[in-house]
Amino acid sequence: MSDQQVIIIGAGFCGLAAAFELGRRGVRTLVLERDAEIGGLAGSFKVGDESLEKFYHHWFTNDRHVNDLVQELGAADQVVYRPTRTGMYFANQTFRLSSPLDVLRFTPLRLIDRIRLGVLALRARAVKDWQPLEDMTAEEWLVKLGGRNVFEVVWQPLLEGKFGPYARDVSAVWFWNKLKLRGGSRGKSGAEMLAYYRGGFAALAERVAVEVQRLGGKIRTGTEATGLVVQDGRVAGVRTPEGVIPAQAVLLTQPLPLVADMLEPHAPAPYTSRLRQIEYLANVCLVLQLDRSLSDTYWLNVNDPGFPFVGVIEHTNFEPAETYGGRRIVYLSKYLPETHDMYRMSDDELLRFAIPHLKRMFPAFDERWILAHNVWRARFSQPIVAKRYSQLIPPVETPVDGVYLSSMAQVYPEDRGTNYAIREGRAVAQRIAAAMADAAQAPGKAQPPGAAGAAGAAGAAA
Ligand SMILES: Cc1cc2nc3c(=O)[nH]c(=O)nc-3n(C[C@H](O)[C@H](O)[C@H](O)COP(=O)(O)OP(=O)(O)OC[C@H]3O[C@@H](n4cnc5c(N)ncnc54)[C@H](O)[C@@H]3O)c2cc1C
Repeated sequence: MSDQQVIIIGAGFCGLAAAFELGRRGVRTLVLERDAEIGGLAGSFKVGDESLEKFYHHWFTNDRHVNDLVQELGAADQVVYRPTRTGMYFANQTFRLSSPLDVLRFTPLRLIDRIRLGVLALRARAVKDWQPLEDMTAEEWLVKLGGRNVFEVVWQPLLEGKFGPYARDVSAVWFWNKLKLRGGSRGKSGAEMLAYYRGGFAALAERVAVEVQRLGGKIRTGTEATGLVVQDGRVAGVRTPEGVIPAQAVLLTQPLPLVADMLEPHAPAPYTSRLRQIEYLANVCLVLQLDRSLSDTYWLNVNDPGFPFVGVIEHTNFEPAETYGGRRIVYLSKYLPETHDMYRMSDDELLRFAIPHLKRMFPAFDERWILAHNVWRARFSQPIVAKRYSQLIPPVETPVDGVYLSSMAQVYPEDRGTNYAIREGRAVAQRIAAAMADAAQAPGKAQPPGAAGAAGAAGAAA
């Protein structure tokens, strides 16, 4: 194993997968994570002795990259596949929308529009080439495929719920992917199936972390990278509150605005302002632990503009409640700009705000059912995938030699997700390992910092 290390900033699934891939290729890694725990947006908290995701998480059955990783870790037996029920809340009623038959029974639409809705789903899944969709908004495309009526009842509320003020800007490519992925995640009977890991996403992150360490890598939580040390246009180390850590290469996995902050002193201004062109929504999730169930639906899309959350996800209609000592787990999710009132409410304010809405949706619901609640917020939770998004995506190589970038907003044409974080993390690791091998063969061409450079970098900390 080489004595020159790659520092990876961020122990989300991208950073962990990159460290795993580099370790397999004999490259030493150090992962720096500013949170106390690994996992990033797919991180967890404790409910009793069990880990539960702060933000609801599942995989689709066709999420190939996570499946490959789990196989390589020898942990395929830890993945469980389960049928799930999807519904839609509309005009004070809940409608099931898990199967083609459910679509035919969806009375808010006239029969002809129900048929249009079914045909739309099939036509969307049949699209293979996404490039022509880049020039269309989701609205333009969905109206073209299914008509305005179907759009206004089914898709517009979902777009507005998820993207708020950006709803009209969202690209057709983003929506096509959602329809394709969700529609393709089915078991043999045609019913929707989703996948989960025993012990939750925290258990998989831990499994990867153990493997990274077995391969010689290190993971340091509670350590924020505060800047880069760059000498003669090439990275030499990473600044942390404890001092500078020397590095031959650095991989940044944070959201793009945070990457721009780190590169600002070292990269041309047009480059960093380009990084800031992609906008992000925040997310707030109210997680309720209840003494009984709200409904038998796992995933309830809310198409009622009077209800302030975009989804009600009853996690224990997917992972059994016994895992959490019989408690029922319900997430209420809202994507929103960080300036939105709901993002700024205290945890208790958000709970008080949500209760009357929940009572309207589930008339039997009583707040005495609530055993505990938690609120989780993520400032950078969803990049806005607008028209011609491919032109906004920055390359993996940055203007600073030895600094690479693999961030959630580069996932495209798919939408961000742990499956793609793993794919991208492993792909960038392969490029870094190849560049290091080239540099080792032609030491005069690319100047790794070596002993002198590293010492200089450490000195810069003082
Ligand atoms: C509400 C919600 C629901 C979701 N549901 C699903 C789902 O069902 N299935 C699915 O697969 N995906 C889901 N996702 C998406 C998924 O969580 C992300 O796509 C994925 O976790 C991104 O991983 P990442 O490693 O690219 O980024 P992140 O998870 O954002 O990791 C970046 C890491 O960098 C760290 N960091 C940032 N700055 C610094 C610094 N200066 N120094 C050190 N560390 C730093 C952060 O703390 C973080 O841990 C969901 C996301 C949200 C918000």
